Amino acid sequence: MHVEVLCTGNELLDGSVVDTNASYFMERSFLRGAPVARKETLPDDLPVLVEAFRKLGERADFVLVSGGLGPTADDITLDAAAQAAGVPLEIDQAILQKLKERFARRNIAFSENNARQARVPRGGQAVPNPFGSAPMIVLTVGKARCHLLPGVPREFRGLCDQEVIPRLEQALAGEPNRVYRIGRVLRCVGIAESHLDALVKDLPARHPHVSFGFRTHAPENHLKLLAEGASQDEARARLEAVEREARALLGTKVFGIDQEELPQAVFAALKKAGATVAFAESVTGGMCASLLASVPGASEVLVSSAVVYQERAKTQLLGVDAELVAREGAVSAKVTRELAEAARAHSGARFGVAITGWAGPSGGTPADPVGTVYVCLTDGNGVLEEKTRFGFDRERVRSFAAYLALDLLRRHARGIIP
Ligand code: ATP
Ligand code: MG
Repeated sequence: MHVEVLCTGNELLDGSVVDTNASYFMERSFLRGAPVARKETLPDDLPVLVEAFRKLGERADFVLVSGGLGPTADDITLDAAAQAAGVPLEIDQAILQKLKERFARRNIAFSENNARQARVPRGGQAVPNPFGSAPMIVLTVGKARCHLLPGVPREFRGLCDQEVIPRLEQALAGEPNRVYRIGRVLRCVGIAESHLDALVKDLPARHPHVSFGFRTHAPENHLKLLAEGASQDEARARLEAVEREARALLGTKVFGIDQEELPQAVFAALKKAGATVAFAESVTGGMCASLLASVPGASEVLVSSAVVYQERAKTQLLGVDAELVAREGAVSAKVTRELAEAARAHSGARFGVAITGWAGPSGGTPADPVGTVYVCLTDGNGVLEEKTRFGFDRERVRSFAAYLALDLLRRHARGIIP
């Protein structure tokens, strides 16, 4: 099945808004065995959009369209789709009534342009949108089944999960001579893309029915596997076989699959171990805690984080010996270890983690130039230390340092075996 995505909006082309909607759908579509063949981003320009829908109607079977369903004059996606399909737009009285009620409930006056959101192309289907006002529209243009969604990411994602993906699965199930495909993303951290590639280089020859893809999503690297078969079971068995082998090669570099983010994996590992953590963060400035706190329920595992940025803060907040800091330098193995110990002791957490480093662009020493990062993890008995040097700019040094620390914690959440 030929699947395409069309994103509309001038704001996507003038650099002011990053298109996150397309990737949201494409990731999910890929995992269900229908990788998107093509994606276009076009301005709010009626003739351009009409032409785009016409072409989609010739090429595609299943189309996802994002944006331009709102009430303003630049919201013209419906007009374009209807023109390409050669059908008029009609006001749906039931939708109009619901819109008016929604406005009344929120005590907002219903201006006439809002009625634009009650327009449905003849022959099209309006699917209620529980996340906002504009309904999702399903319309056949040429041979393509088009699904028109509002651009607001919250609405887009809700409708994508609840309405589009089930329709995609249905369409896939109805395909004659269907090839079954199942995707899996193995998410890795602490490994460069070229090393990942080298580690799994022998797999493709042994797994001819699997396609392999690599994606850098710094600081992560992903291995994307797409297995196909004549039946769902065959595709699944092939996927499982290649995943087993890939995992054996990649070991603990794999922290999660599909949509799982590193903070979620760290949270899960700590929770499973019944462990808690306290951070002492210098170079990461609180990023470790912030990442972990993004996971719902984080308070079960995250006790505290001290942002000990200036030298004196290391002494003032965590009682690290000022002389040691002066002698060894704030960015050093010894100070980092003291910070980790102090973070643990002060908080009563099971683990203490400290991160120091030179983010740049200035700073650094001849021995430890800009990009050098120290990480220490302790549970009071054992200590694990890492020193590394990231040859990146400031922001990347900081985010790589946070991921390094979080990943160390994830891998040893059950305890440090000295
Ligand atoms: P509205 O009713 O709000 O006008 P709409 O369907 O007309 O919804 P747009 O006007 O295209 O959608 O976009 C609404 C908001 O969503 C804007 O703030 C826009 O920046 C954002 N947005 C649009 N397309 C995308 C996208 N592909 N990825 C991320 N954000 C987007
Ligand atoms: Mg709009």
